[in-house]
Amino acid sequence: RWVYMNGRYVKKEEATVSIFDHGFLYGDGIFEGIRVYDGNVFRLRDHLVRLYESARSIMLDIPLKIEELEQSVVEAVRKNELRDAYIRLVVSRGKGELCLDPSKCNDPQVIIIVDQVRLFPQETYDRGLKIITVPTRRNVPDALNPKIKSLNYLNNILVKIEANQAGVGEALMLNGDGYVAEGSGDNIFLVKKGILYTPPGYVGALEGITRQAIMDLCERNGYTVKEQPFTRHDVYVADEVFLTGTAAEVIAVVNVDGRTIADGVPGPVTQHLLKEFRQLVTVDGTQ
Ligand code: PLP
Repeated sequence: RWVYMNGRYVKKEEATVSIFDHGFLYGDGIFEGIRVYDGNVFRLRDHLVRLYESARSIMLDIPLKIEELEQSVVEAVRKNELRDAYIRLVVSRGKGELCLDPSKCNDPQVIIIVDQVRLFPQETYDRGLKIITVPTRRNVPDALNPKIKSLNYLNNILVKIEANQAGVGEALMLNGDGYVAEGSGDNIFLVKKGILYTPPGYVGALEGITRQAIMDLCERNGYTVKEQPFTRHDVYVADEVFLTGTAAEVIAVVNVDGRTIADGVPGPVTQHLLKEFRQLVTVDGTQ
């Protein structure tokens, strides 16, 4: 495996960053997780637009034009000779001094790792996932806006730890007002009386690329999707619940906080959308 580091390719085992990198010291940076299906990078431009928006919001200058970075990602995939892969694109503020001030960080690090990811076994997709809600709250959008995919993922990591301790595969964060925001690394949808609902970004969710792909598929398949805040109660009484994310793709949820969702098996809309999604990524490639 080859890792792209600021225009150079370094062997995976030899790819290292400085302990003075503010990405390491303070989580000062941003990232994207992107999938490659059958040699095509899925919605690369959308991921890059989100990356550059995250960068603008935290005042980090990515030292490449979006077209150049796009080219580099495609090249890194090619160099690693993987048809199906997961890309981790990281931009950190770079090496600086032992203080918060980033003004001495003159050399942002742009890193592209091409590897593989498998979040859940196929069995989990067939049976559905058991999840919980956890005490960790999603940042309210005034501090560090959850729309920024920053290297500060401690909130999300705590959620994952809380899920692990409860012996479940994923957990949901609520926002400060008690509305359901998202999972540790995925967005949530529910289906009620044939209509799909997903929390709007302002509730405190990252506007996922997979979420958007599902919304596009809904439109093509005649489903109505409403971006609307909802509570845990709405989740418990939904007809279907599923999560979406680059790593998880589309995964049914069959139990939340001990409440079985409907009859406890992946529902027809979820199954239909998972099938459509798999087709979209494999047949249409970059669509
Ligand atoms: N929410 C969070 C906090 C995430 O980290 C991710 C993963 O990227 C998502 C949602 C899902 O977004 P996407 O579909 O773009 O992977």
